[in-house]
Amino acid sequence: MRAALLGLVVLVGCVGTHPRNPEWRQRKADAAEAAAPGPLARPQWRIVGRSVEGRSLRVLELGRGPRRVLWVGGIHGDEREGHYGTAQLPGAFLDVPGAVDKVTLTILEDANPDGSAHNTRSNRNGVDLNRNYPARNYLPGDGRGKAPLDQPESRALHDLILAVQPDVVVVAHAWRNDHFINFDGPALRYAELFSRKSGFRVKASDTFAPTPGSLGSWVGRTLGKAILTLEYERGTDPAAAWQSTSDAILAVILDG
Ligand SMILES: [Zn+2]
Repeated sequence: MRAALLGLVVLVGCVGTHPRNPEWRQRKADAAEAAAPGPLARPQWRIVGRSVEGRSLRVLELGRGPRRVLWVGGIHGDEREGHYGTAQLPGAFLDVPGAVDKVTLTILEDANPDGSAHNTRSNRNGVDLNRNYPARNYLPGDGRGKAPLDQPESRALHDLILAVQPDVVVVAHAWRNDHFINFDGPALRYAELFSRKSGFRVKASDTFAPTPGSLGSWVGRTLGKAILTLEYERGTDPAAAWQSTSDAILAVILDG
């Protein structure tokens, strides 16, 4: 009886570890997956929303570090100077030794893909998405929507920010005949770091025309989170724009 039991145990043991056994193969696959570096194994774009015309709002998540940073490649469709850099950023980030253990970087490729497709500042409903956020200074009206977040693109980015809870948000824009780094919320330190690394000067929000319902107003003043608005000069060659700011962008992402 004892010998038979032992035999059974041995038999079960053999079956359990035989390479052709499906359970064994599954366990091996599970172990390989557990050993793989999580989201780094195969970074994939995922869709977090749709535009008015049904275009995808795509997000890539890189790294697994405790620091969380959100990069937004553009929100005004006629300001696409940051798009080239957005495409370069994943590779540049992954090339920095140790970055993936320090930071989780979320990249929203384009917050206004319809605007980019049609070369318009606003979305297809004629709403400036950067005036459609539930900041205390939101004002309903032409080009700003009837209510905060009444546009699908702004809702998608709003929900992404609440889900990611980023330590800092960086949004690419472009400005006529000037370039600078603007900030809202507790982001002066990041703006100054960006400025040191790029030569872009820091420009505070109170020197601008009022921007009711802007993403900066909502993230910076309502949520109290750090947000940088990166203004490239309109018409700058996108590759040159990236070259002049890549060190600064990575410094902000890595916090130093
Ligand atoms: Zn803009």
